[in-house]
Amino acid sequence: MITIQQLSKRFGKLQVLNEVSLALEGGQCVALIGPNGSGKTTLIKAILGMVIPQSGNIRFKGKDIVGEWEYRNEIGYMPQIGQYPENMTIGQVLDMMKDIRRVPESTLDYDLFNAFGLGGMLDKRMRTLSGGTRQKVSACLAFMFNPEVLILDEPTAGLDPISTELLKDKIIGERQKNKLILITSHVLSELDDLVSEVIYMQEGKPLFHKTLQSLKAETGTNRLSSAVARVI
Ligand code: ATP
Repeated sequence: MITIQQLSKRFGKLQVLNEVSLALEGGQCVALIGPNGSGKTTLIKAILGMVIPQSGNIRFKGKDIVGEWEYRNEIGYMPQIGQYPENMTIGQVLDMMKDIRRVPESTLDYDLFNAFGLGGMLDKRMRTLSGGTRQKVSACLAFMFNPEVLILDEPTAGLDPISTELLKDKIIGERQKNKLILITSHVLSELDDLVSEVIYMQEGKPLFHKTLQSLKAETGTNRLSSAVARVI
């Protein structure tokens, strides 16, 4: 579904992505892990068209998407830190996104919105929300428009344990619908029962891209954190 070839990005003299090549398919839930500064968020932003690479290409369903914009409606994105107009209420942010996306109300997915109990908070202004509640709004917006691809940048950061479980259940459900899900996280234990593949980024390129099953079999361990520790 998404094919990346020889993708490179520099910020000034810093080579942040170094000839990254990857192929990602529907039905996969992919963990994008690696040390701070290894290029995970930059790679995500390149897929989202928010970072323009110096070289290489990204194809979405066979089409070159660097410099394009229409495909973005097919990707749900939960950023590391959601930026919203601070004076708007949750309800207004939702309405704004619906206006931008222009999809029929009947196709919207309110599962997470309801599970998180955001219905009772529609008149709360963004600037008054706790970090975790902002994360919940971001999560709802990523899933609400039924995208084929979900890109979740540290989705559980700041979420309480029950909300984390609700989000994980939703991710598992979406994967079963053959969607492609890409997740970055530093909490490897949370990824254990969630992901099918693991990409480990190091210094701007994947050190490895393996299925979770093969990674665990190869390292003789049943925990992602131990498996990763044994191969890096
Ligand atoms: P983390 O785990 O801390 O979220 P990451 O793997 O997501 O890290 P990136 O956010 O992709 O890493 O950043 C990779 C490197 O690129 C870092 O050194 C960062 O400082 C640098 N960088 C990212 N965005 C920019 C930018 N807009 N301008 C300059 N440097 C940037």
